[in-house]
Amino acid sequence: MSKKEFKAESKRLLEMMINSIYSQKEVFLRELLSNSSDAIDKIYYKALTDDSLRFNKESYYIKVTPDKTNRILTITDTGIGMTQEELESSLGTIARSGSLAFKNENETKDGHTIIGQFGVGFYAAFMVADVVTVISKALGSGEAYKWESTGADGYTIEPCEKETVGTQIILKIKENTEDETYDEYLEEYRLKEIIKKYSDFIRYPIKMDITEKRPKEGSDNELEDYTEEQVINSMVPIWKKNKNELTSEDYEQFYSEKRYGFDKPLTHLHINVDGTIRYNAILFIPENSPFDYYSKEFEKGLELYSNGVLIMNKCADLLPDYFSFVKGMVDSEDLSLNISREILQQDRQLQLIAKNIGKKIKNELKSLLKNEREKFEKFYKSFGRQLKYGVYSDFGSNKDVLKDLLLFYSSTEKKLVTLDEYVSRMPEDQKYIYYASGESYDRIEKLPQAELVADKGYEILYFTEDIDEFAIKMLMTYEEKEFKSVSSSNLGIEAEEEQINESEERENKELFDYMKKALAGKVGDVRASKRLKTHPVCLSADGEVTIEMEKILSAMPD
Ligand code: ADP
Ligand code: MG
Repeated sequence: MSKKEFKAESKRLLEMMINSIYSQKEVFLRELLSNSSDAIDKIYYKALTDDSLRFNKESYYIKVTPDKTNRILTITDTGIGMTQEELESSLGTIARSGSLAFKNENETKDGHTIIGQFGVGFYAAFMVADVVTVISKALGSGEAYKWESTGADGYTIEPCEKETVGTQIILKIKENTEDETYDEYLEEYRLKEIIKKYSDFIRYPIKMDITEKRPKEGSDNELEDYTEEQVINSMVPIWKKNKNELTSEDYEQFYSEKRYGFDKPLTHLHINVDGTIRYNAILFIPENSPFDYYSKEFEKGLELYSNGVLIMNKCADLLPDYFSFVKGMVDSEDLSLNISREILQQDRQLQLIAKNIGKKIKNELKSLLKNEREKFEKFYKSFGRQLKYGVYSDFGSNKDVLKDLLLFYSSTEKKLVTLDEYVSRMPEDQKYIYYASGESYDRIEKLPQAELVADKGYEILYFTEDIDEFAIKMLMTYEEKEFKSVSSSNLGIEAEEEQINESEERENKELFDYMKKALAGKVGDVRASKRLKTHPVCLSADGEVTIEMEKILSAMPD
């Protein structure tokens, strides 16, 4: 039997691909700039082994030039260029990546900053352009060639004039339609914005001629247009810089530039990991919770970069829920991207990074608690509730991570204390960690149930948030000490355990029976108690669910 090749309607395939890979049109620019950066990188790598080549960083750049009148956007680079054959093979074959081939051929030389790999990014140009023209002159070649295509109908290649080595991509931007406008891709401010968003950390300068109004010379109030070539991208990402050369102000500036929050960060982590997993990250713990933090609208996540190119705005998989308040970015060279560079396939690398990040955040919080208590309490005021949710919703090992970070107000210390501090102060004879729930410290202070425990001189933790008691129930014990609500019926205090005088019960039997009848359905039993000092009566609960928990549960919508 002879084997046959698949036939593909390449015209339709191209159309389908162009319109289904990317969810946003603006990424066409990211793809073209990444290609230009790759092309310059290739000269850089060649120069490493070829003595006849000099790599003088100043002579390599990318330039973006919009021409509104003619609806043309040009991207020019001084990269390695393409020969006639390369134009044919790289741009004429969908899913052929010259860059991937280059990386494979040059494996020994650390070529990992090259971005291209799928051989489809270039065609993103057709999302915004009717006609794409590529004029290129390859390094070491005397001739230049012009490749041109309207997308669906194939392409032409012919010789042309070009003085310098490099490539020019010329896009004839589409006319607006009823549903779509394309004008923005010819606007200076918009192009600047897209470059900043996706390509800020491309290693070579991305230049644009920027026109601004300036006061006319010799005049105070007259303005004139002034055009100047500017470099738009920052090039060296702050996370690749040496920590010792950076100040807190640098990090704060990055925080506000990136709009991670309107506040100042409480603290930052700058992580460089270079082992089996390789990544750089800058993470921030904000001071204040965003207004929507405890709502469904809030989306957690970190920015994810691959080789300095933005892949995802909010990668949720990088943060556990209980650390969802953390802001920042992660850059890694080793991610397996999918073709649109938008979503990552279930990636082991990503999971490893997430795990590593989780540990680092925990350690940072622990050290804050230990060394900068005031800062930690500020943090706790904003995000403590989230940690408690973390403990409560745990099915795995979060509890161990989080229990040491919990703070509660203490009846004896009159301030927030950790569970560890509480336990270390417990007298020999104290069996339980006592807590009392209520709306406010004031109200808890007046609880009759707390009297006996307080009288014994035992410390009581005040629970004022709905989640507190639920979280503690999940924790069950701390350092093998059980938690005990002051309103539970058995407090484990000797005085209370002494048998209530039989005769006292008998004497009051009639009264107790009467009270039980009057409160039928509301209380289970009426008993004499040794717990009370100055109050005549109090409620106590048997079993797992305390009175406060019952209140919360019955207030929840069904
Ligand atoms: P990828 O970048 O994933 O390889 P693309 O479709 O973006 O795929 O580009 C295909 C190939 O075309 C690249 O691998 C590269 O060989 C070549 N190419 C594209 N743009 C340029 C450029 N500006 N300069 C040199 N070569 C380029
Ligand atoms: Mg590409």
